[in-house]
Amino acid sequence: MTDDLQAIVDRIHAKLQSRLGEGKVADYIPQLAHVDPRKFGMAVVTVDGKVNSAGDCAEPFSIQSVSKVFTLTLALGKHGETTWNRVGREPSGSPFNSIVQLEQEAGKPRNPFINAGAIAVSDLVLAGHTPREAIGEILRFVRYLADDETIAIDPSVAKSEEATGYRNFALANFMRSFNKLSHPVEHVLGVYFHHCAISMTCTQLARAGLFLAANGRNPMTGHTVVSSQRARRINALMLTCGHYDGSGEFAYRVGLPGKSGVGGGIMAVAPGRASMAVWSPGLNQNGNSLVGSLALEMLADETGWSVFGH
Ligand code: GLU
Repeated sequence: MTDDLQAIVDRIHAKLQSRLGEGKVADYIPQLAHVDPRKFGMAVVTVDGKVNSAGDCAEPFSIQSVSKVFTLTLALGKHGETTWNRVGREPSGSPFNSIVQLEQEAGKPRNPFINAGAIAVSDLVLAGHTPREAIGEILRFVRYLADDETIAIDPSVAKSEEATGYRNFALANFMRSFNKLSHPVEHVLGVYFHHCAISMTCTQLARAGLFLAANGRNPMTGHTVVSSQRARRINALMLTCGHYDGSGEFAYRVGLPGKSGVGGGIMAVAPGRASMAVWSPGLNQNGNSLVGSLALEMLADETGWSVFGH
């Protein structure tokens, strides 16, 4: 099966050419609105280290909320199970930046992948650090996961979000009012905006997710990142919560744990087989990459990798 993987990736890439440009590029972050909507990249890295890729797979893009998987992994490493005192593990069924649910639940966000939850996780990563140190720690961690020292934060994206992130400020202030943040709102959001502004290529992102496909150990570097239990649990959260209020639809169509971002990237994991990333900036109505979701649906169909069976 995996011998044919490059052919499958090439075929999907070719088939979707006619769909490029569909969907709506996120423009509430001004810096993201400039991205060419016809970009499309794919990379699949198997647990034996083979890379299969196509299209704009070597072009860095803003990973945005995909970074929330990495910050959650860091927070769990620092705080263990007490992380869950601050953030829940249930799908939200609400838009990624919803404030209504947060009020009903007294400032404890539903899960670590909606904005409020990821802001709470940034607060946890910040413990014992200045914002600059925490941002450095997150970037070093992502470089370590992908085994690539060239990965960087795009400061213009971070700045753009800082200037226009009214809702994120509202969410953070709201949590602070419930005593659910331990650090000043500006510091927490500084960390949050910067990790969302990490730029990566599909190939780097697929490699960074490999530890989740291989029981917590990156088979390319030999580094044990997390225990197999933790890898399994992070995958469970990605499956149930990784696509905002489109998580059910993604599970139905693709059947893989995955995390999307408003930059148009999706990282997904086929446990025991491969880690993959797609990028296409046009988003569907739930804020997930439209062509990227289609590409992963086709890939899961052709490989039989859905966690729910062939
Ligand atoms: N930085 C983005 C925001 O806070 C992330 C959104 C996303 O990718 O879901 O709005």
